[in-house]
Amino acid sequence: MNFYYYFYMSVAPVHSTVLSFEDARRVVEEQAAGIPAPATESVDLLAAAGRVLAEPVLADRDIPPFPRSTRDGYAVRSADLTEIPATFDVIAEIKAGEKLERIPANVGRGETAAIMTGAPVPTGADAVVMVEYTSRLGKRVEFKRSVAAGENIVPRGAESRAGSPLLDPGIRLNEASLALAASAGKSRLSVYKRPRVAVLTTGDEIVDVDAIPGPTQIRNSNSYSLAAQIQNAGGDPVLLPVAPDELQGLLRSIEVGLKADLLLVTGGVSMGRYDLVEQALSEMLAEFFFTGAKIQPGRPVVFGRCGVGARPRYFFGLPGNPVSTMVTFELFARPLLEALAGQSPRKLTFLHARLKKEIRVKTGLKRFLPAMLSGEFEGSQVELVAWQGSGDIAATTRANCYIVIPPDREQIPAGEWIAVMLR
Ligand code: AMP
Ligand code: MG
Repeated sequence: MNFYYYFYMSVAPVHSTVLSFEDARRVVEEQAAGIPAPATESVDLLAAAGRVLAEPVLADRDIPPFPRSTRDGYAVRSADLTEIPATFDVIAEIKAGEKLERIPANVGRGETAAIMTGAPVPTGADAVVMVEYTSRLGKRVEFKRSVAAGENIVPRGAESRAGSPLLDPGIRLNEASLALAASAGKSRLSVYKRPRVAVLTTGDEIVDVDAIPGPTQIRNSNSYSLAAQIQNAGGDPVLLPVAPDELQGLLRSIEVGLKADLLLVTGGVSMGRYDLVEQALSEMLAEFFFTGAKIQPGRPVVFGRCGVGARPRYFFGLPGNPVSTMVTFELFARPLLEALAGQSPRKLTFLHARLKKEIRVKTGLKRFLPAMLSGEFEGSQVELVAWQGSGDIAATTRANCYIVIPPDREQIPAGEWIAVMLR
């Protein structure tokens, strides 16, 4: 009995818990829901894109702050314009940003003010007739159409009232939320600090990217796909040195990895004799929520928690096959990482597209297969990309989504609407 085998045998086997995809996902969501908000920092608005908001943003004044014309045209009392054509006196010209003293106090009967998009509508007027429906005759203007009360005006405060919440903590700041923060005068925002995510790649066959691989070795690619996915989900990746398929070495590396906010181990979670990650974690008295999910790729995925002092850390054991690693990160690690990043939970949602070519698979597993969504506009279609299984990284570079196949479907005909997960 060799050394490795001795250790393998010496550790009690991990109780296996293989869940359906939905149950496994729910377990992650439940754990994510209990994660407390992280520490905060203040950043410049320009540096806040993609960060998670940590403070409520309130409207500092009504939006819009005045009744805003949405058109270039003429502000009128709509009740005066029932008989068409009609000709009114032009008493003012109001441009966007017009000084208050240049805005007429009132628009009376038979009067109108020329007004530009974004300008304040004067008192008395209750609608704006688009310039296209008028013809100007010196100081008078002829209207060719009537207008309903309120037309082409956004009333003061209609979008938001002063003091009301515009943005809630927990949102990921995108172009729309940043624009709203800017309109409320927030040049700096409080955001959550990014969680540190340790990436531990395991495998005796794995070498660094800049090493020259021996004939039976392969370069480490998972650390790099995971680093990109971690950054994309709001975390800071910390790549640990590749760990061997040997218990003592794994224990040391896992101990280092558990100092981060989240640990992702790749490889070593399958059923092989040298797949020792679960054994190592179980020696460290880890709690396992599941040790497999009925999915393909990614069936051996592991999720658990391991105490380091008073602060238990979550970990995922992601299968080493590169496509499995990518898929299981998206399905399970991402929601937990988003919670650690302070982001409010969101459900996993799929789009639907028409299947271009028939699919035949075996039943029993929920599948997330690399696919290409193509076509244009409402004619979008999706089809599987040719692949050699979950080790085929090249195939995933030709894919822009995953087709989601329920475990009970054996054959899906071309033309059927099918669930798609974008990547
Ligand atoms: P494992 O999950 O350790 O059984 O590994 C499954 C497959 O993924 C094997 O073919 C490994 O060589 C491969 N693999 C594991 N880790 C990596 C990695 N970091 N980069 C690329 N391939 C890997
Ligand atoms: Mg391995």
